[in-house]
Amino acid sequence: MRDCHRELSLWMEALGEQIRIDAAGNFRAVYPALELDAPRLLIGSHLDTVPNAGAYDGVLGAVLAVALLEELHGRRLPFAVEVVGFSEEEGIRFGTPFIGSRALVGRLDQGLLDLRDARGVSVRKAIEDFGLNPEKIPEAELERDTLGYLEFHIEQGPVLERLNLPLSAVEAIAGQSRLEFTFLGRANHAGTTPMHLRNDAIAGAAEWIGFVEHLAQSVPGLVATVGTIEAKPGATNVIAGETKLTLDVRHGSEEIRVRAVEDLIRQASEIAKRRGLSVRERTLLSQPAVAMNQFFVDEIEKAIVKTGCPAHRMVSGAGHDAMILAEKVPSAMIFLRTPGGISHDPAESVAREDVEKAIDCGLHLLDQLAASPEFYKRTNRA
Ligand SMILES: [Zn+2]
Repeated sequence: MRDCHRELSLWMEALGEQIRIDAAGNFRAVYPALELDAPRLLIGSHLDTVPNAGAYDGVLGAVLAVALLEELHGRRLPFAVEVVGFSEEEGIRFGTPFIGSRALVGRLDQGLLDLRDARGVSVRKAIEDFGLNPEKIPEAELERDTLGYLEFHIEQGPVLERLNLPLSAVEAIAGQSRLEFTFLGRANHAGTTPMHLRNDAIAGAAEWIGFVEHLAQSVPGLVATVGTIEAKPGATNVIAGETKLTLDVRHGSEEIRVRAVEDLIRQASEIAKRRGLSVRERTLLSQPAVAMNQFFVDEIEKAIVKTGCPAHRMVSGAGHDAMILAEKVPSAMIFLRTPGGISHDPAESVAREDVEKAIDCGLHLLDQLAASPEFYKRTNRA
């Protein structure tokens, strides 16, 4: 991370920016506005990554912000631009994501600071070991005159490639439900128990899994996944008495996701009843969808069209720092096509032409925002 900060600093210093690493380990650099007390727009992404990662998830968004400012060739805007490179977005080390971005919205609290990694080192200790002072975390919070947050990121999925589009606006970050289902039947001999006298927990679960897939296929934008299945007693010649499964359901609309989960719970109990089984479910996570700022989404679409590409907007199935920032300031994202939809893998890549389009789109966007006084005067000294 230190090397990464040093690299970014070298580029930013050349642009005459004021650089700091805040107490949560986020890289922050401010490109000044025309006037001293102008409000600021944040552009960035995260700098951490996953084990055996690719080279573009997160870091491309931070580097794109620098490239955008380079392309201004010293020209000042009516608002300052703060480049942010977030720490700890992925949640690998401490098992909790968005630690860096939570500092900006004032949510890097005692509970988070007390989290420990696999070796027992707390977030607080890791911050100190890095040479930073956890007491200064409040200084990492957003300035009152922050206009918003923009994030370029690879899509990490196959949708834009399939549509043959280099760029898309992100209109929402999908909400997510995670549940655990347990079907209970009766374990019995696989040879001596006739088919009509069974209470087979695996067969019941299998029928329900088919329904999960069917429902998700019939609702536009809905994704539903049974990712794990575990059967007991788990022998070739024994009818299963218990099956435990996990369910992951995501959609950009709160209403559709909640209704889908209700449908799936109802269907599980109908299948169980018909088969002489019982079923119980437990909610592990229910995270609301986060809408991106409508003004930004519209402006991003206009900017995409100016690059010669068709306008497009989509829902992000993955979580991003933008959904944390959206709690406090208008936020939006721009996705870049991901070849093969491959991410979190060394084969992750981007096309050079798509990055050029993204920079072009970003420049149009900055100009559009600069030409929109109601945008940059709105929160100034509010
Ligand atoms: Zn990412």
